[in-house]
Amino acid sequence: MSREPIIGVLALQGDVREHLEVLEQLGARVVQVRLPAHLAEVDALVIPGGESSVIDKLTRMFELAEPISDRIADGMPVLGTCAGLIMLANDLTDGIDGQRTFRSLDITVQRNAFGAQVDSFETEVNLPEVSPRPLRAAFIRAPIVTRVGEGVRVLGQLADGRIVAVQSGNVIGVSFHPEVEGETQLHEYFLGVVREHLT
Ligand code: GLN
Repeated sequence: MSREPIIGVLALQGDVREHLEVLEQLGARVVQVRLPAHLAEVDALVIPGGESSVIDKLTRMFELAEPISDRIADGMPVLGTCAGLIMLANDLTDGIDGQRTFRSLDITVQRNAFGAQVDSFETEVNLPEVSPRPLRAAFIRAPIVTRVGEGVRVLGQLADGRIVAVQSGNVIGVSFHPEVEGETQLHEYFLGVVREHLT
């Protein structure tokens, strides 16, 4: 490949800054995506954590929802974390009324799956395909993957077996936030997928 890939971060709501920081730390060229014209510039997209029902509304309002779905269907690499994972899922349980997703990944995701009493926690998760070292992960009102369709690989599970990281082709989704822990391994892995795709 002759040029450095341009990585977009969907910058409508959520922890955009943390993703930009990790990507910049890894030497990536980054662009904030707020409009379809920004999306057209990027080779890959990160969908941050935040509130999926808000990200859903804003992407539709800014006419980004369809172009994002189309680009992903065309093979654009994408990494969704937490609310970003929800946005990628084909099927959603416990969404708000009328909540939609990009339908880019054949999984079912249960929103806010850890219940009110365990809203947030930090732990280490093994993602052997991503790194030999466990990842530091923050689970903040996190979703869980409750169904994995054909062709979707499980990248990581909690000790009790719950699925928290998946990949299908160039589409990667995790239910936690690596970026708030200063964790860079998942983004590094994603940049590898992006470079491979552009080769
Ligand atoms: N519970 C949030 C949602 O439904 C996700 C939380 C997060 O991204 N940290 O979108």
